[in-house]
Amino acid sequence: MTMAAPLSFSEPGRDCALCPRLEKFRRENRRAIPEGFNAPVPAFGPLDAELLIVGLAPGLHGANRTGRPFTGDWAGDMLYPALLRFGFAQGKYCESADDGLRLRKCRISNAVRCVPPQNKPTTVEIKACRSFLADEIAAMPNLRALLCLGRVAHDSAIRLFGERAKAFPFAHGAVHRLESRGLALYDSYHCSRYNTNTGVLTPQMFDAVFARIAADLGK
Ligand code: SF4
Repeated sequence: MTMAAPLSFSEPGRDCALCPRLEKFRRENRRAIPEGFNAPVPAFGPLDAELLIVGLAPGLHGANRTGRPFTGDWAGDMLYPALLRFGFAQGKYCESADDGLRLRKCRISNAVRCVPPQNKPTTVEIKACRSFLADEIAAMPNLRALLCLGRVAHDSAIRLFGERAKAFPFAHGAVHRLESRGLALYDSYHCSRYNTNTGVLTPQMFDAVFARIAADLGK
């Protein structure tokens, strides 16, 4: 699927008020972590990428603090080295949005762009933010694959494409072919500290998912 130049799209504003609970939490965090980003975290990586990685939501002391998805906390310590190993990133990951790391043929976003209390967005909040994810996907002309990290990202993406979640159940390592969209949707457990500390997701399991995607994309 090759098209002309990527389309532009609108990002949520820094004070997006579509989710009142998250807006309130944002205001609290601006007081508590004044040096932090504390706003909807924009996606990272080129719009003409073939792969879009979709996480859950910014971590309070990770992306919410640094302003770049998966940057500054445990999940990023798992994700970025994997991207470097499989050629989806160039440079050095230093847990900071200005570390100079560049993504190659890969973009990273979240199902929900604002940090939720206890990392748990509500169904209404996930639905509210889905329109931004939909806009982003529509603006990626070369998109061939989505990697959904966790069930929330998976279900939101499936619904975004107008499919029934039951017809495409989340399972680590699963590959769902969305033929009508010309896309493959890959599932992985989220690379959170909890999942890795409990052995739900091991580095080997995570690498196997990226190995499959890289092979399918001909990298
Ligand atoms: S989560 Fe998304 S829709 Fe909700 S306030 Fe943040 S940017 Fe707006």
